Amino acid sequence: MIQLALYDLHQRVIDYLRVSITDLCNLRCVYCRPPEGVPLIPHEDILRYEEFLTIIGVARDMGIRKIRVTGGEPLVRRGVLGFLEKLIAMEGIEDVGLTTNGVLLASMASDLRAIGLKRVNVSLDSLRRETFKYITRSDRLDEVLAGIQEALDRGFHPVKINVVLLQGINEPDVVGFARLTLEQPLDVRFIERMPFGADTVPNSPDPFSSLAVLNMIREQVGELLPQERGPLDGPATMFRIKGAVGRIGIIDPVTGHFCGTCNRLRLTARGTLRPCLLSGQELDLRTPLRRGASRDEIGQIIEAAVLAKPMGHDSHLCAMGEGMNRIGG
Ligand code: SAM
Repeated sequence: MIQLALYDLHQRVIDYLRVSITDLCNLRCVYCRPPEGVPLIPHEDILRYEEFLTIIGVARDMGIRKIRVTGGEPLVRRGVLGFLEKLIAMEGIEDVGLTTNGVLLASMASDLRAIGLKRVNVSLDSLRRETFKYITRSDRLDEVLAGIQEALDRGFHPVKINVVLLQGINEPDVVGFARLTLEQPLDVRFIERMPFGADTVPNSPDPFSSLAVLNMIREQVGELLPQERGPLDGPATMFRIKGAVGRIGIIDPVTGHFCGTCNRLRLTARGTLRPCLLSGQELDLRTPLRRGASRDEIGQIIEAAVLAKPMGHDSHLCAMGEGMNRIGG
């Protein structure tokens, strides 16, 4: 099949689509959702799997090669295995990833592996029960840890753990997370917290930065050796602690400036396309799709989203906006 390439106005190749399949989540992280949860999006406003596949098929023909399925929590949506299986089988899609909070991973890892999923990202911000409970407002750390172990045992590679840096909350976890890489083939990636509106933890004027993480690891665990960034590493700057099996990644959307290499679009569960995570703009695909739009018309909207991608973001702009729960992480 002939696939085109999608270029934005800043000469970036856009080949990656993150797809949020649900706004529902089985955790209530303090930086993502208010304690009472968020108003549910009416069922009929959420795209059906066939609608996601139609949009992804058009995007694939235009140059999208990589898909990451996210949420909400993607593993809570009924039928997710069948959807992933179809995505993995889609000609021209070279890579399918999944981002999960890991709560249901232990029970689903074997089925996920059986349908051909190769890699998985697990979000986990603390290895300490009380802190995990505080952050997620739930007592499910053991389930997440079991999910990570099961993913390793089932041969997922890479298994990435994404840790959002929360000032005054999970600094003491950095060393424990870093030590996990000493003997396990894990990529532990520390991610600076972005200032979203749904965040119920006040933003500190002196946020917990990726530089502080690197210093803590160097001082308390060992020498950090820079690693070449691989095709699956996204915007992360990679390191390996001397002698370690796994790697450490740093993702610094706040103190770093990696917009220059941004290659992605986001498709929300409501069927809108978001050119940039941190700008509020979204383009509606659901309405035209349900009105019977042709593939060409869908393609034009995808192209418009690509052309609307800003060169960079002003992270302050999103402070009054919605959180990842609506956008999809
Ligand atoms: N439920 C899935 C999970 O937990 O991975 C997928 C959705 S979640 C919104 C995706 C990722 O977004 C998680 O790693 C989460 O920590 C991250 N995230 C949410 N709000 C964030 C923020 N303000 N700054 C940085 N990362 C954030």
